[in-house]
Amino acid sequence: MPEVIPHWLTKQADIAPDQIAIEHINGKTITFSKLKTNSQQFAKKLANYGVGKGTHVGVLSTNNASMVIAIHALSYIGAVSVLLNTRLTKEELTYQINDAEMMVVLTCDSLEKEVMVMDLPVPVKTFSEISHLPEMETDLQTEIILDDVFTIIYTSGTTGFPKGVIHTYGNHWWSAMGSALNIGLDSNDKWLAALPIFHVSGLSIFIKSVIYGMPVYLMEKFDQQVVQDAIMERGVTMVSVVTVMLKRLVDLLGNNTYPDTFRCMLLGGGPAPRPLLEKAKAKHIPVFQSYGMTETSSQIVTLSPLNALNKIGSAGKPLFPAQLKIDHTKEDSVGEIFVKGPMVTRGYFNKKEATNSAFQNGWLATGDLGYLDHEGFLYVVDRRKDLIISGGENIYPSEVESVLSGIEQVSEVGVVGKADETWGQVPVAFVVAIDQTISESDVIKYSNNYLAKYKVPKQVFFVDKLPRNASNKLVRGELAKWIQNN
Ligand code: ATP
Ligand code: MG
Repeated sequence: MPEVIPHWLTKQADIAPDQIAIEHINGKTITFSKLKTNSQQFAKKLANYGVGKGTHVGVLSTNNASMVIAIHALSYIGAVSVLLNTRLTKEELTYQINDAEMMVVLTCDSLEKEVMVMDLPVPVKTFSEISHLPEMETDLQTEIILDDVFTIIYTSGTTGFPKGVIHTYGNHWWSAMGSALNIGLDSNDKWLAALPIFHVSGLSIFIKSVIYGMPVYLMEKFDQQVVQDAIMERGVTMVSVVTVMLKRLVDLLGNNTYPDTFRCMLLGGGPAPRPLLEKAKAKHIPVFQSYGMTETSSQIVTLSPLNALNKIGSAGKPLFPAQLKIDHTKEDSVGEIFVKGPMVTRGYFNKKEATNSAFQNGWLATGDLGYLDHEGFLYVVDRRKDLIISGGENIYPSEVESVLSGIEQVSEVGVVGKADETWGQVPVAFVVAIDQTISESDVIKYSNNYLAKYKVPKQVFFVDKLPRNASNKLVRGELAKWIQNN
């Protein structure tokens, strides 16, 4: 028998109908009861397009309540939400629409103009267009089969072409459980969502909301002042951030501190430079560093502030129902990170080969390198693909980038390997400087103080910006290509 639970939104609307599910920054709120009613109505309207059980439906939207309602509506129909990054180009969207076999794309009204001129290969419908349709007689799902597919979300495409990650309801359920078992639940919790909902880290906040009965403070886009005000004055107790957001919040906080009720700044999505973590620590910000990927339905490893003091830079330990191991190929303690657990995807949509090569005996090969300290805390060092080998020594670009980001005049930095006759490869740095008061020799001199000689960049290129993908992640492959061609 498959594992079945009642539909989670119906259940929460029954348990806590008047509890706030979503709070807008303008003060408007939606209760769980209203969220359920709106989602069910939206589902019946969607049925006009022939959307049914198993249909793949694209959702291309900025953060707003209609997007959350659309995703719940699709789940009431038993359809699959394929979440699309709003920064994708026409070509990238077309690729994902075809690759994931979508039937229709739903979009928010504010993107209508932009999307309509793209001439995408399937019909595009706006949320308000759908809201004007009549409700069809449709059987809505009263239960959730945990093995059924709920969402498909593409990886960021940092190391190659994005792949559509299949998430079952069970993956999301266990992700929410793992987080609760780690951070705990508090009846006063309010989780701020400024990360895009089309990323699994953003979406997961809304799944937790429904499962825990917890309000989400919804922001269309990140603004450090609004986030700070929400923590200081609006009762927000948890915030999910990526590094650049944390940096802005830390700078804005100045000599102030957050109230004691603020209990979690969940940091994920990429490496966090040590100087930033130290600054946050000095300001008593309860940063929970975490490690995860689209394939793990958000964080799978998390470091709680209890350990943050002596484990700075670590991503922590695997959440309760997850396992982690390091595959050592050399004597070195660093190796590829493998994870396993009920929040890990079963594979990529329509990509048998990629799925087969990513899984080994039920373990997912993450493509990331890391090591465990003697107490089992994980330190993520870098992506396997980006490793630089110089004279037989391993250099992890993230480590060099982290050091260079400590230079005051450096705003962004990317490090890659350059072919070298003597050493095989040597590290070189691309730097976006805040002003022109810094030179190549300053960067090298600074690096010499903190890095072993072989890790010190041999050349420094000052650039206006670094190549980033739609998820704003540094694409080192582009830098490596540039180096090869110049
Ligand atoms: P693609 O798989 O298409 O190359 P991507 O891996 O960037 O894209 P995501 O799933 O969005 O797509 O990102 C997950 C990756 O982010 C992880 O595999 C890891 O490389 C990086 N990452 C996440 N958390 C951390 C962390 N705490 N420290 C270092 N890197 C991290
Ligand atoms: Mg990846």
